[in-house]
Amino acid sequence: MNKTTARKPLNVLITAGPTREYVDPVRFISNASSGVTGFELARSAAKNGANVTLISGPVIIKPPEKVRVFFVGTALPMRKAVDKFIKKMDIFISSAAVCDWRPEHFWRRKIKKSSKILRIKLTKNPDILKSAAEKYHLTKTFVGFALETENEIENAKNKLHRKKLDLIVANAPENIGSGLASGFILYPDGKIKEIKKCSKSTFAKIIWKEIKKTHYDKRKKR
Ligand code: C5P
Repeated sequence: MNKTTARKPLNVLITAGPTREYVDPVRFISNASSGVTGFELARSAAKNGANVTLISGPVIIKPPEKVRVFFVGTALPMRKAVDKFIKKMDIFISSAAVCDWRPEHFWRRKIKKSSKILRIKLTKNPDILKSAAEKYHLTKTFVGFALETENEIENAKNKLHRKKLDLIVANAPENIGSGLASGFILYPDGKIKEIKKCSKSTFAKIIWKEIKKTHYDKRKKR
């Protein structure tokens, strides 16, 4: 038996898709995200022998085989699910487009269109990835995504350090809803790897390979 096959399967937690923060029973604020990249990452990791737990916001994709999937609607239950599973995980890949704010008030009945202006007060949602990484960054591997409309690399670098991540994927808004994706993988030592335009399944395979390598390198140093 060689060294690779003798390794214990990795426990991998992935968040994917958007969250929907409801204003009333039918209206919500959200982020544009299909969830495809997160689901493809789950597929790649599971095919590679990892035990994958996927926590997804509302998406219309069939879950990959051999992946344990939990669906949530909003950011707060997503955080609760991450808090529940994180302890047993080796790797946390946070690809969800978590809505940064939620309405402070939830109208139990559909809001009538009687006034011209409706003011909705928003309150900040918790940063799920940052709080998990703050707690466990010494013992687990943390991966984030940064979707930027400007200064892509600079902003992603800041997030990588601020959130104590081992790797971050910077990608542009053109990737949203497209079957194709491109981007950059950034590391804390300044190394950058470009991923040229490819299918989202290839995009995920490349990222998963880098995550796995990063995780084993980190483990060797401990
Ligand atoms: O700061 P920004 O939202 O751009 O960071 C993106 C990264 O942080 C993504 O990996 C996303 O899944 C994660 N995130 C989170 N909780 C939030 C906001 C973002 O886990 N409330």
